[in-house]
Amino acid sequence: MGTRPSSRALIDALRHRPVTVATLCSHSSLQIFHGARMERLSTLGIAVGKPPRYYEAFPLARPDSYLTVPKATEVGKYAKQLNALGSVIVPHGSFVEYMGADRFQALQVPVFGNRAVLGWESDRRKERAWLDSAGVSMPRRYETIDDIDGPAIVKYYGAKGGKGFVLAKNRSDLKDFKPSGPYVIQEYVLGTRYYLHFFYSPLSRDGYRVGPGSLELLGMDRRDEANIDELYKLGSQEELTRAGMRPTFVVTGNVPVVARESLLPKLFDVGARIIERSIELFGGMTGPFCVEGIVTEELEFKVFEISARIVAGTNLFPNGSSYSDLVAPQLSMGRRIAQEILRAQSEDRLDAVIS
Ligand code: AMP
Repeated sequence: MGTRPSSRALIDALRHRPVTVATLCSHSSLQIFHGARMERLSTLGIAVGKPPRYYEAFPLARPDSYLTVPKATEVGKYAKQLNALGSVIVPHGSFVEYMGADRFQALQVPVFGNRAVLGWESDRRKERAWLDSAGVSMPRRYETIDDIDGPAIVKYYGAKGGKGFVLAKNRSDLKDFKPSGPYVIQEYVLGTRYYLHFFYSPLSRDGYRVGPGSLELLGMDRRDEANIDELYKLGSQEELTRAGMRPTFVVTGNVPVVARESLLPKLFDVGARIIERSIELFGGMTGPFCVEGIVTEELEFKVFEISARIVAGTNLFPNGSSYSDLVAPQLSMGRRIAQEILRAQSEDRLDAVIS
C-alpha cells in the first residue's frame, strides 16, 4: 500500500504487540469500539475537551481509555502517546473533517486503510475521474447552465450536508443563478436512494473475489435528510421558493433498507469496478467504503458519491444487518475492521491494511 517511508517503521512496531483501536469520539465511534471489544482489542477514545457524557449511557461501547486533546486539529501532536499504546487509528467522516484532510494524511500514527484515497475522494472532479474511468454509471454532468436539458442539481464543493444546493426543474429555473463558490451541475436523478456499506479485504481469499482479495456487502441504509425529505408536505417548489424556503440535504439520521435481490449483481459489479480501478490508480482502497446512488425506475443504479471509509449508516447494525447476517453472525462494520487488523497481524501483512 502507498505508505510513506516514515510509516513503515510505525507499522513494523505493531507486528508483535497488542494493538489498540483508536478513533475520535464522534460519528461511528461507539460502533467501532463495540466491534473492537467483541474481538478483544483494547480501545482508546480521542476526546476533544472531555469525553462525551452520552458515552456513559453505552457501557458495551465505551472505550477502555481516553486521550484528551484541546482541538481535533491537534491530534498529530499526540502521536508519541498514541504510538506508545500501539494505536491503529480508524478514520471516520467527522475525524477527517474536523482534523482536516492534509493534517490527517500527515499523521505519524498507523491508520487503518490506505490514506492515499483521501486525495481522490475529497475533490469532486478527481472522484468523478476515478468512477468514470471505472465504468460506473453516474448522473450526467453539465459543464454550463446552457447544457442543461432536464432536471438538475447544483452542488457546491465540500458542501456540508448539502446546504445551499439548488434544485432546478429545467434550465430556465437557473437563469438568475449566482454561485456562491465552486460548484458542479448534475442531472437530478429521480429514483430511490441506497447507501451501500461495502468492505474490501485484500487478505481474504473467500467469497466475492475482486483483485487480490474479496468484497463484502455488510449493510445498506438510506439517509434521512432535512429539510428535503419533508419539504413536499408544504406545497409545490414554486410556492416554497416564493416563501423563501429552499431545499437542504442535511443528514439527520439513517434508516435501514434492503434492495430487491435482483439488483445485487449490479451493486456488486459497481463495488468491484471501484475497487479494481482504485488498485490501478493509487494502490487500492482497503476496508470500509460506501457507494451512494440512486436506483431509477429503469432499475439503473447511478452513483452520485462515494465515501472511502466507515459511514454513520453502519451504526444501524452493531449486531449485524440483513446482509452481514448472511456473512457471519453479529458482524458490524466496526467488528469487521477489528477482525481485519487481527488477521493482518497474524499473517504478518499489516502493511496491506494499514498506512
Ligand atoms: P452529496 O453531497 O453528493 O452526497 O449529495 C447530498 C444529497 O443530495 C444526497 O444524499 C442526495 O439526496 C442528493 N443528491 C446528490 N446528487 C444527486 C443527484 N445527481 N440527483 C438526485 N439527488 C442527488
